[in-house]
Amino acid sequence: MPDVIADPETDPRATYAVDPARVRALTARVVASGEPLTTHTPMTGAPLATLPTATAADVAVAVDRARAAQRRWVAVPVAERARRLLTLHDLVLTRQSELLDLVQLESGKARSHAFEEVADVAIVARYYARRGPAHLADEPHLGVFPVLTRSTEHHRPKGVVGIVSPWNYPLSLAVTDALPALVAGNAVVLRPDPQGSLTALAAVDLLVEAGFPADLVQVVLGGADTGAAVVERTDYVCFTGSTATGRAVAAAAGRRLVGASLELGGKNSVYVADDADLRRAVPGVLRACFASAGQLCVSAERLLLHERVADEFLGRFLEAVSAVRLSTGLHWDADMGSLVGPAQLERVLAHVDDAVAKGATVLAGGRARPDVGPYVVEPTVLAGVTSAMACRDEETFGPVVAVHRVADDDAAVALANDTEYGLNASVWTRDTRRGRALAARIEAGTVNVNEGYAAAWGSIGSPMGGMKASGLGRRHGREGILKYTEAQNVSVQGLVNVADLPGLRGASYARALTGALRAMRAARLP
Ligand code: NAD
Repeated sequence: MPDVIADPETDPRATYAVDPARVRALTARVVASGEPLTTHTPMTGAPLATLPTATAADVAVAVDRARAAQRRWVAVPVAERARRLLTLHDLVLTRQSELLDLVQLESGKARSHAFEEVADVAIVARYYARRGPAHLADEPHLGVFPVLTRSTEHHRPKGVVGIVSPWNYPLSLAVTDALPALVAGNAVVLRPDPQGSLTALAAVDLLVEAGFPADLVQVVLGGADTGAAVVERTDYVCFTGSTATGRAVAAAAGRRLVGASLELGGKNSVYVADDADLRRAVPGVLRACFASAGQLCVSAERLLLHERVADEFLGRFLEAVSAVRLSTGLHWDADMGSLVGPAQLERVLAHVDDAVAKGATVLAGGRARPDVGPYVVEPTVLAGVTSAMACRDEETFGPVVAVHRVADDDAAVALANDTEYGLNASVWTRDTRRGRALAARIEAGTVNVNEGYAAAWGSIGSPMGGMKASGLGRRHGREGILKYTEAQNVSVQGLVNVADLPGLRGASYARALTGALRAMRAARLP
């Protein structure tokens, strides 16, 4: 490394490209007899790599290989499985330079936003290395007859977990959901989005280097059909993507009666209360709205400003927006990068154009910037957005935020909840009790007080995920690992059978049991 041949920002004759030998090495182990697929880098629009893709039959082969590897893996003690995550943690931090290049080249985002993904993998690896075994530990419970019945809750792996990950966080979303699945004793079949495949493959290489058996994590490449084939064959599905696709994945999993966790879209709000510390709120809200050019499931697209601070906040915020440095370079001196490709560019500009045509005002940005990159759009702030406009309720998934003024906390909560989604919210106030009270009223799976999204996202002992149309299930924390297991209740009965007490039949059995139940209640047993 670096495998990037040259950086066109510093050398105008160069094009970004990944060394074909590196692409061959990364894809050497994938099962693929489908049509090759060429991806393009959003940085310049030029071809980036040609990838081998998997047919449904290839996915079946990958699942079989994973299943065979899982049978061996489950025999490895959980402490040892977890320990390998600490090795991965160290590798990801040491080798971050290649990962950052690949994330940037595939997604178009700025390097500082790519770094969030590296940090995320390290945080998740550390957490499940340290806490995974405790979450999975056998738990004794009070038996039906205290002392005579010894009941234990076990957590058995599901088997082969299917992960279908999108393009917007190609490192985080491909890897972090796999880590708890592996610690829990599962194998993984991962279908990264084509626009994140090299990143995912490089990360899986690091998993192998960290000591995870090579066949345990199978990567299959391709688009929606490959994703659907993974959903059709695995024992549990972890999907991240849009709500529309999430519904299709849930239906397919439901037909097979396998579980699924779905991390879907959002229309997240930020509320700046009248007592907010604006020195912190302005840069915090800027990041909340424009990290990864707004292509972040938890980023904010609705800015609710208490009318008493609205003017002052907006003045400072618009100044900060106008100072955002746009770039498609592989360096650290940029605040925002590119959208992922032409479809996303079209969607974002269509939302802005529709809003303007129906009377919205552009307070900042609003234009494509082909001089910076083919899919770059300025950070955009709109006012006067109404429900006649698509961007009022639909997820834009781009750097566009609509400003709404609110009279008080009640109006802010009502507006925050006025959406089919419920993924993330952010509240800025100096009074953290007020912040917690507001959080209790907001229908969102994560609420960040005095942060945009990173406090909740990075605090991974607490689960995160979506309410309402934003998803099912949670990642992170105890829920984020137990979802990959089947709870099994093993109860060992001693001395007498439960329904066969010596000398007791019919009414006398019922009387004895009634007495026993009353005694257990009196003894405050659970
Ligand atoms: P999408 O739903 O169109 O596609 C997501 C992935 O699913 C793609 O890689 C696609 O190839 C695959 N896919 C499509 N049809 C499939 C099927 N029937 N079965 C299996 N896989 C299938 O979403 P997108 O536009 O690529 O991604 C952006 C969306 O993802 C946004 O709505 C965003 O909010 C959401 N997202 C959510 C989170 C979260 O954690 N909640 C994180 C990132 C992105």
